[in-house]
Amino acid sequence: VIRPVAGFERMGEENAFAVLSRASALAAQGRDIVNLGIGQPDFPTPQHIVEAAIKALRDGHHGYTPSTGIEPLRVAVAADVQRRLGAEIDPGRVVIVPGGKVTMFGAILMMGEPGAEILYPDPGFPIYRSMIEFTGARPVPVPIREENGFAFSAEETLDLITQDTRLLILNSPANPTGGVAPKAEIDKLVAGLADHPHVAILSDEIYDQFLFDGEQHTSLLAYPEIRDRLVLLNGWSKTYAMTGWRLGWALWPDGLYDAARKLAVNAWSCVNAPAQYGALAALTGPQDCVADMVAEFDRRRHLVVDGLNALPGVSCTMPKGAFYAFPNITGTGWPSAKELASTLLEKAGVATVGGPDFGIHGEGYIRLSYANSAENIARGLDRMGQFLATER
Ligand code: PLP
Repeated sequence: VIRPVAGFERMGEENAFAVLSRASALAAQGRDIVNLGIGQPDFPTPQHIVEAAIKALRDGHHGYTPSTGIEPLRVAVAADVQRRLGAEIDPGRVVIVPGGKVTMFGAILMMGEPGAEILYPDPGFPIYRSMIEFTGARPVPVPIREENGFAFSAEETLDLITQDTRLLILNSPANPTGGVAPKAEIDKLVAGLADHPHVAILSDEIYDQFLFDGEQHTSLLAYPEIRDRLVLLNGWSKTYAMTGWRLGWALWPDGLYDAARKLAVNAWSCVNAPAQYGALAALTGPQDCVADMVAEFDRRRHLVVDGLNALPGVSCTMPKGAFYAFPNITGTGWPSAKELASTLLEKAGVATVGGPDFGIHGEGYIRLSYANSAENIARGLDRMGQFLATER
């Protein structure tokens, strides 16, 4: 039997995809499933973006593009960052990638090796830890706590840094908690990082436009003092409801740019050409589609959080960003959040993801994505209520 090298045994998974396939299998058997599991907008991609990609195909954009992406798109990314975040970035350091995930894959691959330590949010996007393990580096979880509004503590994060720390991963607004890091905490963290110039930072800002209650996004791009060691991850998947297009962008610091460019050449040559023209239309076209989507998510956020708080033994903090609710289920009597999530799917037909799928500090929580219709959210909550009343 042939086998891959040892790193692949250590590689993890993203259980949200396993939940999605189980939910689809149950639906195929005729079960009525309410899917609050997967993290993707339930809206179609705005029509003007779809049309731009179709036009690109009709116009003959069928070949390879430069491996870092077409220049107008990289320039549009820089203009968008300037407009929204007030930060100036060099389009020559932007790399267009097939999905935001590829940026974390690259950054962790570049900084991880046996003997190195990488700090990542826990609970957090499961691929961070998976990739850290793959490289042989030591994963060091930064606890993300409900009592801190699901934001990292700068002091605690800085205390975890050692001489071996190579990379610090940040994610705000956050998956799976919906937490948003306050500017004051980021200020404190960046000030402290001055004492640790050997630490690179990967800031995953893919949910940066999903903010509620007047919250403002604080991008790590706002801190020139760390720009030479900052990798910024963003993309189109969530903002423009384009998860299936596989598109993202990254800004790389001078020291890592060449490695990022070579990774592109070695692994995917370039991103799908017509998709890049769709992405260009997304950035240069009307932005009201984003505001409308966020407003709709805001309405659903209240529905889901109010509904969860009315369930026996469940309490849910109001998330400030992204499109997830992360209710505390310790009062339900279920000893394992993962078991609760899987039983909810099998018996009540409601797909959610267990908190432990996002890290050790996710025990006692489940994640609900409210990227689903108000009607389905209401049905899902209703079923959860009946389930918890009878099964606990
Ligand atoms: N980062 C976070 C925090 C995410 O939740 C996701 C997707 O769920 C990604 C990155 C990856 O996005 P993409 O679909 O563009 O690869």
